[in-house]
Amino acid sequence: TPTIGVLALQGDVREHLTALASVGARAVTVRRPDELALVDGLVLPGGESTTIDKLLRIFELRDPLRARIKESLPVYGSCAGMILLADRILDGTADQQTIGGMDVVVRRNAFGRQVDSFETDLDVVGVSDGGAVRTAFIRAPWIEEAGRDVEVLSRIPAVDTQGRAVAAAGRIVAARQGPLLATAFHPEITGDTRVHRLFVSMVAGG
Ligand code: GLN
Repeated sequence: TPTIGVLALQGDVREHLTALASVGARAVTVRRPDELALVDGLVLPGGESTTIDKLLRIFELRDPLRARIKESLPVYGSCAGMILLADRILDGTADQQTIGGMDVVVRRNAFGRQVDSFETDLDVVGVSDGGAVRTAFIRAPWIEEAGRDVEVLSRIPAVDTQGRAVAAAGRIVAARQGPLLATAFHPEITGDTRVHRLFVSMVAGG
């Protein structure tokens, strides 16, 4: 059984712990470098990326985490976690930094104020064979550019379920680069655990 940490500085930590446990992982919180050293994979939860960035530096986790990512630690970033995994961000605050690792440009709060939050069903490569994934977007980012080594797993479709055109059509909202997985949405709050199942299989060596 792989041990998967959830970075527990801020954000929806409990939901990820529950989702990981429900797909058979040993899920533990990570707040200190010695806790990070013990995990086989790590989830960066949704929350507020600027706050998590500051706390990573205060808790002296930023450099150890970067080092483990360089050594191919599997990491799954959801929403704010996706921002943290991005090599470059747009619309960050002036002093905001990322951990980086994934060759993408992510735009923070990309979906705009009028649609701050919504739920939708999405096809996600390697996940949605049994039907579309139920996803929640909460002041979500999107991936604006993806490098050559990044596999796009999901895009916003051109029309919604009522057949209306969607402004964000074609935007990338899930991607993978080697052991790094990122989603703009939160699968952990809709009860759909298939993204977590994918991540657990990545940690197990898949
Ligand atoms: N808007 C948040 C940020 O910039 C992300 C929101 C979320 O994680 N649900 O960090």
